[in-house]
Amino acid sequence: MSEEFEKLEQVKVPALDEILGKPFKVLDDGFIRVIDYMGSDQSVVQAARVSYGKGTKKLRQDRGLIRYLMRHKHTTPFEMCEIKFHIRIPMDAWRQWIRHRTANVNEYSTRYSIAIDSAQTTKPDEWRMQSKDNKQGSSGYFDVETGRQLSEEERKLQNLARETYQKRIDLGVAREQARKDLPLSTYTEAYWKIDLHNLLHFLRLRMEKNAQLEIRKYAQIIGHEIVAKWVPFTWEAFLDYEMNAQKFSAIELEIIKNIISANTEAVLEIAEKAGWLKVKDGRLVKNLERMEMEEKLELLGLEKPW
Ligand SMILES: Cc1cc2nc3c(=O)[nH]c(=O)nc-3n(C[C@H](O)[C@H](O)[C@H](O)COP(=O)(O)OP(=O)(O)OC[C@H]3O[C@@H](n4cnc5c(N)ncnc54)[C@H](O)[C@@H]3O)c2cc1C
Repeated sequence: MSEEFEKLEQVKVPALDEILGKPFKVLDDGFIRVIDYMGSDQSVVQAARVSYGKGTKKLRQDRGLIRYLMRHKHTTPFEMCEIKFHIRIPMDAWRQWIRHRTANVNEYSTRYSIAIDSAQTTKPDEWRMQSKDNKQGSSGYFDVETGRQLSEEERKLQNLARETYQKRIDLGVAREQARKDLPLSTYTEAYWKIDLHNLLHFLRLRMEKNAQLEIRKYAQIIGHEIVAKWVPFTWEAFLDYEMNAQKFSAIELEIIKNIISANTEAVLEIAEKAGWLKVKDGRLVKNLERMEMEEKLELLGLEKPW
């Protein structure tokens, strides 16, 4: 062969090697730990340079290149890195997790083995109230006395379910059928392998404040404790351009431009046209788009003009 190829070594990230296999505790009996990984920030850079050509190598620093890729959604170089986790998680959070189809999964089988004898329990001060604004969310906590009753009922229910399950198993009922009445709080375990691009997409959705608290706790550990150590430049760029960034619609931008130039008349006209200012019984009718815009205005330190 006329072309010369450099000698390669397996990519190692010492900061990640240090926590390889170490379980990070999540919830009352869950954990997440890294089993294996492939690649690093360098692998992202290396893949990008193949597509941009060797000539650009000296022009861009690694960090700058990674930020450029993230900013412009040139995502395939991030797919060059992979990571494999071992997770222990209650089944209701797992049900949300498994919706992310771009991973490889191998889950503990309760057809083959006895179900894990552990269910997520809730402390008296951990019972959340249904949010009034967000049908999928929670807001605030119950008082501890009410929480105590809820926790006591939870304990009885979980015990009954477990005893019933055990009775069926002892009688010789097939494991695949005996499990049917186990609660969603029962822990399951899985190996979950995913590439960095799709992992960041998972984190974007599951670290967000609207994601359910339980899955958010796992996502935050993956992000802040694991990905931050594994690919620090990518993590920094992700926080900057994705997680902590804001997106503005064309309507929102027009409104902001007019707020800044103190053209309240134009602002109200745009909002009215967008259907955000409908009034019923002397009050503004709930409008999700307007409410989300109000959150963005608050972030920018701007008063809402309606
Ligand atoms: C706050 C929140 C609330 C939710 N509420 C509900 C709910 O009420 N009901 C419900 O059913 N789900 C709900 N979901 C799940 C949600 O709709 C997605 O299924 C889940 O977040 C996985 O996202 P994804 O498909 O982008 O991820 P992945 O499956 O990991 O896919 C990543 C990306 O790959 C591409 N992709 C993957 N598979 C395909 C495909 N077959 N065709 C085309 N492109 C594909 C898409 O671009 C996708 O964004 C909710 C999620 C969140 C975060």
